Amino acid sequence: MLKNISKKIKMVFTEDGFTYGNCLLVEDDVRLLIDSGAGQALAEARPEGVDFLINSHHHYDHIRGNDSCTQAKVLLHPLEQKLLQAPQNLTASAGWEELMGYNNYFDPRNIGIRLEQTNRSWRIDEEIYDGQIIDCGQTKLIVLHTPGHSPGHCCFYFPDEELVFLGDICLTKVGPWYGDPQTNIDDFLKSIDRIIELHPKKLVTGHINTIISDNPQSTLIEYRDRILMREQQILQHLQKVPCTIHQLAEQHIIYRKHHTSFVLFWEKAMLKNHLQRLLNLELIELVEDGRYRIRKAG
Ligand SMILES: [Zn+2]
Repeated sequence: MLKNISKKIKMVFTEDGFTYGNCLLVEDDVRLLIDSGAGQALAEARPEGVDFLINSHHHYDHIRGNDSCTQAKVLLHPLEQKLLQAPQNLTASAGWEELMGYNNYFDPRNIGIRLEQTNRSWRIDEEIYDGQIIDCGQTKLIVLHTPGHSPGHCCFYFPDEELVFLGDICLTKVGPWYGDPQTNIDDFLKSIDRIIELHPKKLVTGHINTIISDNPQSTLIEYRDRILMREQQILQHLQKVPCTIHQLAEQHIIYRKHHTSFVLFWEKAMLKNHLQRLLNLELIELVEDGRYRIRKAG
């Protein structure tokens, strides 16, 4: 479904579910699309007539419709380009073997993705960079490199409209997601703070089907603080009993239910990044049997 944000900016809201995502369309002197994962709704954006396609990052739900933009130059941040060519990264399951065991391989078909959709190469024509101004005519947007969800994740700021397309700073109830082995939580926190400092009036994301204009600041602050709340819960649990990452996962600090092995993996992948941050902060330490415990002062 297309929804107008301004005269020349529209959202393409997907109606296809979990492995799809919303896109943003600029219809100005230049037709520009950000992300391509809207599924059936993408046809309403006439992707075959798009001049520039920017991918916010490399995950499959944001790139899956790239081939529909047959005439477009495809742009992506350089830190994402290698990741785009590896199936495990595309499906946000890098590091699966280490956390889930070598006899329990991840099969993308379990989440409705056929192997041949990820096991292929993707065309990229140009790089984008932080602070880049993209001029579409009357509409201008600024690239913001916002790592944390993935290393080269970008948001897009439209200063005249005081609007930010947040990609997978998703603002959904189950977010934020920071399970990529190549990212860290400090980056994610800084990226959200950077958006907060822009004081945007409108926010759109890859996974919420409304334009958020009611108190965007407090929405962002609450979303950021969930990360710190999860961290506090980890510390509280380790205070009670030292445990391994697998034992911590059983506490459901991030996801209330592990409906599939995929969700359990994500829980562990995010715990891993939390534990790394807590080790860096010297708040915890690793003991020999793989358990983490609170570090005693002095
Ligand atoms: Zn993503």
